[in-house]
Amino acid sequence: MTERAAADAVILRGALGILTGLAGPAARARGDILIEGGRIAAVGAVPDRPGARVLDASGCVVTPGLVSAHHHLFQSMLKAVPAAMDAPLETWLRCVPYTYWPRFDVEALAVAATVGMAELLLSGCTTVADHHYLFADTYDYAPEAVLFETAERLGLRMALLRGGTTRSRRFDTPDIVPTPNERIDVMLRRVQDIAQRYHDPAPDARRRVVLAPNTPTWGVARDELRPLAQAARQMGLRLHSHLSETQTYVTYCHETYGMRPVQWLADHDWLGPDVWFAHLVHVDAAELSLLAATGTGMAHCPQSNGRLGSGIAPAPALDRMGGRVALAADGAASNEACDMISEMHAAFLLHRAAGGPAAVTCDDVLRWATAGGAAVLGLDAIGTIEVGKQADIAVFDLTAPRYAGLHDPLVAPVACGGGARVRFALCGGRVVVEDGAIPGLDHAALAARAGAVVRRLNA
Ligand SMILES: [Zn+2]
Repeated sequence: MTERAAADAVILRGALGILTGLAGPAARARGDILIEGGRIAAVGAVPDRPGARVLDASGCVVTPGLVSAHHHLFQSMLKAVPAAMDAPLETWLRCVPYTYWPRFDVEALAVAATVGMAELLLSGCTTVADHHYLFADTYDYAPEAVLFETAERLGLRMALLRGGTTRSRRFDTPDIVPTPNERIDVMLRRVQDIAQRYHDPAPDARRRVVLAPNTPTWGVARDELRPLAQAARQMGLRLHSHLSETQTYVTYCHETYGMRPVQWLADHDWLGPDVWFAHLVHVDAAELSLLAATGTGMAHCPQSNGRLGSGIAPAPALDRMGGRVALAADGAASNEACDMISEMHAAFLLHRAAGGPAAVTCDDVLRWATAGGAAVLGLDAIGTIEVGKQADIAVFDLTAPRYAGLHDPLVAPVACGGGARVRFALCGGRVVVEDGAIPGLDHAALAARAGAVVRRLNA
């Protein structure tokens, strides 16, 4: 071992056990973890090494760093807007993002991104796929720069799911301010510019760009779907969008195109292993088969779907069919607990409430939140704890009284719920959470900035 490798080496020592993110018997492992050069170099018995940093993981359960596969970081400054606390999706869209988007300045977005990413890190999440769709010509800043710079500063991996629309959706009242539309050629040129600047196709990329119109149903014209898919694939970018979050998607596609949404997208080259959709709550058995057969992924957002009363997505069914299921927090404006630990707990409880105790296991949910997210993003070097993978790791502290008495402590990060106690989180070997805090982040100062942003948004 070279001197430099020894200086970079980290040993996670003494954990109660490891959830690997893999399926079946490989879902659990024991022992210590050696990290060298940002990668997992050994799992099991790890002898002491001179110069290596040792992190005490005693009383802790270790998992891969969690992945939020569909997020809206800007919404971290739009939590609990009273006008839409009890409203369905369409009214909520009018009262929250579409009411507030013109008031976002660079400070509002920077604070929202910092709050959202801090919340994710402190719940063990080290990769975020941020679906951002506010790219107004009136802004005097570049949203993608603010988002990527915040991720870099705090140490997360980030995929920018570059949203936008070429046409406006009609809502339930006429008084909305729709986000500005772009012509398709302008949208594609801007996506290409962002991709050239930030997109890294490598399996261990820290920055990715994805083409992600807001919805395929209302956000773009029907004859634009194929050109968008073709352009994304030519640029080497994945495709993402919202789909079938509410019954309204199904009704609209039936009335407009005479078929259900997933079939309609299949006819427009919008399915495949390089595509994943947020929600997919209202899908029937034939649509699930099509999703599974094509490798099209689901970013399952149980808390947001619960908060908006949208329904429960058939994630366990898609998983059993061999399909790709990822977990996601969606936006904090429709999920006031926008962290991944409460998201896992919600998934665990909801599917059992709806489908019985065999509907889903803790290991299943953990796998969705780790390997499942890595798979839909195509980040093959993360998502599991295996030798050779990137050292994206969360260390959950179980020393509080709420965890005392567990016969199987490894289920705790999923089954126990409550606020996560993350002792350490690492992303690519860098320690991004240490003793339950984010190095260099002043929580009180951030809360004060957030309070000022909320007051200004409502001024
Ligand atoms: Zn969303």
